[in-house]
Amino acid sequence: MDRLLQILKRIDGKGYGAYKELAGTYQFADFTLFIDHVQGDPFASPTRIRVRVAGEKAGFPPQLWASKPRRIGLQDYLARQVAVKAKVYCGGVRGTGKSGLLLIDAGGQEILERTALVISAGYVEARLSVGLPADGRRIKGALAAKMLTEELAGIVRASLFYKRLDAAEVLSFVQLKEDQQFIREELVRRKLVAFVADGAVLPRESGASDRPMKGQAVPFEAPPGLAVEMDLPNRGTVRGMGIPEGVTLIVGGGYHGKSTLLKAIERGVYDHIPGDGRELVITRCDAVKIRAEDGRRVEKVDISPFINNLPFGKDTVSFSTEDASGSTSQAANIMEALEIGTSLLLLDEDTSATNFMIRDARMQALVAREKEPITPFVDKVKLLYKDKGVSTILVMGGSGDYFDVADLVIMMDGYRPHVVTGRARELAGQKPTGRRPEGGAAFGEVRHRVPLKQGFKPERGGRVKVDAKGLSTIIFGTAAIDLSFLEQLVDPGQTRAIADILLYLSRKYFDGQNSLSQAIRKLYGEIEEKGLDVVSPFYGKHPGDYAMPRPQEVAGAVNRLRTLMVR
Ligand code: ADP
Ligand code: MG
Repeated sequence: MDRLLQILKRIDGKGYGAYKELAGTYQFADFTLFIDHVQGDPFASPTRIRVRVAGEKAGFPPQLWASKPRRIGLQDYLARQVAVKAKVYCGGVRGTGKSGLLLIDAGGQEILERTALVISAGYVEARLSVGLPADGRRIKGALAAKMLTEELAGIVRASLFYKRLDAAEVLSFVQLKEDQQFIREELVRRKLVAFVADGAVLPRESGASDRPMKGQAVPFEAPPGLAVEMDLPNRGTVRGMGIPEGVTLIVGGGYHGKSTLLKAIERGVYDHIPGDGRELVITRCDAVKIRAEDGRRVEKVDISPFINNLPFGKDTVSFSTEDASGSTSQAANIMEALEIGTSLLLLDEDTSATNFMIRDARMQALVAREKEPITPFVDKVKLLYKDKGVSTILVMGGSGDYFDVADLVIMMDGYRPHVVTGRARELAGQKPTGRRPEGGAAFGEVRHRVPLKQGFKPERGGRVKVDAKGLSTIIFGTAAIDLSFLEQLVDPGQTRAIADILLYLSRKYFDGQNSLSQAIRKLYGEIEEKGLDVVSPFYGKHPGDYAMPRPQEVAGAVNRLRTLMVR
């Protein structure tokens, strides 16, 4: 620590480049500071540091992190503590550009595995970013000394030592994570696809906020016909709605909470923090939200289960386009989800292409089967479950044609769910739609594609340029990948991870042999073994701002790369 102070004294007032000297390791009384990468100027991405507290000093009882769910819970909790304490101890921007900032990537409403905080047998390590302070380009040495010694030490001491934390709060956080994991596994055992606990608060504060609605939210209550109980390891018995495998329809009047329920189920692939309202809303972890996405590129996807006989004889077994329509994009999104692997599709009429979803009797009479390339989803949804074991939950307030194919119909009424399957069946009998099923006897093939290395061009102007911009854009060389329609991508840390994963995949696993799903499966095997750090160009040092993405979103990014080439 003295050495750090000496350097800072010596370079005080000098040009910013002199900060480079700081790279290295410094011993403090109760932790070690690693300065891994020093920023080039006050506006550049901030300096990356790590602080490491020896395990025996940090003093976390092993039972708090002995299992994987508990470890992820504790890491997440501690990263949030560091973030909270950083607000207390750090004085914010003080000088040019990012001068004065001390930040950690602590996440939003989800509990995700992140690289910002790592706990292991030997140590607890937090990875932070620091804006080394300057006035213009002149080093503010005294302020840097205050930040790196006093402020940082204050943060570390208040957040990474067990005895300084609220033991009951820590315990209940890791216990929640454990209960969530239990429900997730229980879903598979009981052949359920989603669970929504009684008392859950589903609506959000606003369209722009992921926090729970304040005040007037109607808490969720399972309808008698769908209520299940689960005995959680920590919380004991909870009651809630269990949606079984098969085809489920969510109906109800406009503004009665259909989309809000689906959205909560869609986000249930992730665990949520205490107080979120959706802590016990848990969905199969591989569920994929499907929507129309006109304008997206598609590379040689077999969409023939849904689309055939396009004008000009355009191929749909190996369908490519630079500019998909609503229906072809939705078909491609489904086939790509099946390619990477999923047990549950989620669709909302609000974001679907009408002609992809329905084709009623009158339209069948007017436009002959041979003149309509689209086989609507209504004719395939049951086959999808029968042939592939893939369930669907679908919000559909506008067409009763789905009554014929639904195993379960849930009606939302004033934000409360009711089971109306019997009534819907009755009506289907009394008022036949008169439409002819057009789906054939089988769902059709899911074809696997082999991505080719040549399609990945990470260079721009001779240098590798791979970067994430916020939640929904990845810069890959000269290409920008638009991820804004991947609605289950939730954390910018996931986007950063995916950006580096694309590069890693293209170098290591897209070898012309592995299919897309094989390559991604192998990558996740390696991540399981070595941690998410492994995909970082800073491996072994500071890959401190990743959050774990799902294979589904990684594949989603590959599929949206406009230079993708496959065999
Ligand atoms: P639908 O899809 O049935 O038209 P939405 O799910 O979009 O309806 O919900 C309509 C509005 O009601 C939204 O503004 C939403 O935030 C609000 N809302 C949804 N569920 C609840 C609830 N349980 N309590 C209070 N407000 C809710
Ligand atoms: Mg809606």
